[in-house]
Parts: sequence; structure tokens; C-alpha cells
Amino acid sequence: SNPLDKDQMQGLRGIREFLKVRTSYDVLPLSFRLVILDNDLLIRKSLNILIQNGIVSAPLWDSRNGTFAGLLTSTDYINVIQYYCQFPHEIDQVDQFRLSSLRDIERAIGVLPLETVSVHPMRPLYEACRRMLKTRARRIPLIDTDDETGRETVVSVITQYRILKFIAVNNEQHTMLLKKPVREIGLGTYTDLATANMNSSVLDVIHLMVKYNISAVPIVDKDNRVMNLFEAVDVIPCIKGGAYDELTATVGDALSQRAEDFGGIYTCSEEDRLDSIFETIRKSRVHRLIVVDDDSRLKGIISLSDILKYVLLYGEEEDDLQEY
Ligand code: ADP
Repeated sequence: SNPLDKDQMQGLRGIREFLKVRTSYDVLPLSFRLVILDNDLLIRKSLNILIQNGIVSAPLWDSRNGTFAGLLTSTDYINVIQYYCQFPHEIDQVDQFRLSSLRDIERAIGVLPLETVSVHPMRPLYEACRRMLKTRARRIPLIDTDDETGRETVVSVITQYRILKFIAVNNEQHTMLLKKPVREIGLGTYTDLATANMNSSVLDVIHLMVKYNISAVPIVDKDNRVMNLFEAVDVIPCIKGGAYDELTATVGDALSQRAEDFGGIYTCSEEDRLDSIFETIRKSRVHRLIVVDDDSRLKGIISLSDILKYVLLYGEEEDDLQEY
């Protein structure tokens, strides 16, 4: 057999073992800040709080019952936008919606509520990864329960990005074995790609993200060259202060208003290998990679979930996975 295959499998096994002996707690930095929002807060106000704190998501807290009430993410704002599109005469009402109404909004527009999975921080990290893949969650809250009072505490939230970064930083001896080209291992999506151009409206791109159930759309020119990338989190500044009528602006205008600390977009080629992708993750804030050819033409897209799925599941027997 091909020696590359053998190395690749050995690298993957090494990473999987690592994830089984580390906990979600291990991923957290020594000190961190956690912004939790009260479920009674107006949705309109939650936007400003996220922007002011430079975050794109936050756990919600039901202070009446003293319980965790789910995660607020950019998907929730996209749902509010869809609601506004379906019921445009209700704009005054939309303005008065609280975070606790998000579930009603989902119901009204007919989207399935995301299953809110959480994990205990001291459980193996492998378990958190499996749950993320199963539910397609991009982030997962760590919830601890007090043995005596039964009260819940939100310890933190871990993201796919954090987990892959943690793998990249601590597994160089394993990631260096992953030397098969991404195209050969089928990493990412290469057909039926959703794209838009600079003159598309923000609303068009949001509809694309909903239709394809994706969190980013490459922005290409007429020759299919990649110009930029519109991400679900880019929606947040667009509707700051409840400005839903500004979604008719073009993608070009919206992207020119990105925060100064925007990390940029990352590309790779079909011949690149996971070892170099992990190298990029180790050094930078990567949320997905756009696969391009030598002329910057779009070939595919590799999401963090594609990477996590491959790292955890490739070559595993169905039987060995049952317990998770
Ligand atoms: P994540 O779950 O990591 O946030 P996405 O939601 O963007 O990633 O991607 C979900 C799946 O859809 C992945 O398999 C990815 O390869 C694919 N995908 C991502 N963006 C696009 C796109 N613009 N067109 C088609 N498929 C995409």
C-alpha cells in the first residue's frame, strides 16, 4: 500500500487519541471573559452589545428560572431578517422582539429550531467534537451543574475554530503526517458552489446562505475569480440598530465596512495538504479556506466542519462510533 496512506492514518489516529485524553476544559485559556445575555433583552440591543464587545455569539440566560436558554448566533439574526421579509408590515413589532422570542420567530418562518446541545467541561474533547458534527453546531456551550443545588453554570463556549487551533498547536508530530492532497481525500465541497458578485445585494446573499444552509458565500468576478467572501457574521454590522431596510445595499458596500481587525480570507490549492492547512490554522484565525487555481479562480471551499469531520471520522468503522 501507499506509504502516504499509512502515515495519513497514523496521523489521524494520533489526533483522535489526543482528543480522547483531553477535556473541553483544557481548550480554555487560563483567563477569559464571557459575555452572557439576558433572554429579556431586546434583539435590537443585543446587536450593539455583540459589536461593542467584538464578539459574534453569546449564551443566553433565563433569569426567571435561573437556567441556560441557548446560544445566540448570527443564524438568529438571519432568521429575524427572514421574518422581516415575510412579514414586512410588522417592522414595529420586529423592533420590540426580545431574545426570548427567537424560538417564536423560528416557528413563524418555519425553520427547525437548532438542537441546543451542551457538554460538561470535564468530558473528553472527543465527545464535544462528535456532538458538534452530529448536530452541525459550530459552537457548543460548556455547562456545569452543581451537584447539591442542581443549578447550571455556563462555563464557556467552544468553537470548531478553537478546537482545531488546539489540535494544531499541540499535535505537530501528528499533523505533519497528513500529506495527502485535499482533493484526493475529498476534503471540502467542489460542486454546486453558491457564489455571488460584488453587486449582489446583501439580502440575496443571505437568501443563498439560508437555501444552502452554509455560513459563507465566495464573492467572484465574471471570470469566477475570487474577490472576497461574505460570511454570516458579516450580517451583524449590516443590521446594527435594527436597520433591516439597508439590506438592499451591495455586498461590495457591506464588505468595505468590515472592522479594521478583520483577519482576511484564506485560500489554498487542490494540491495543498492537511499538514499545511494545520500550519495555517496554527498561525492565523482561519474560519474556512477557499480552494483556488493558479489564476485565483474558484475551485471549492473547505469549511472547519469539513476538516473536523475528516479528522474524526475518516476510516472509522460504524461500530466503533456507536458509543458516542
Ligand atoms: P461550517 O459548518 O464550518 O460553518 P459551512 O456551513 O460554511 O461551514 O459549510 C457547510 C458545508 O457546506 C461544508 O461541507 C462546506 O464545504 C459546504 N459549503 C460551504 N460554503 C459553501 C458554498 N458557498 N457553496 C456550496 N457549499 C458550501
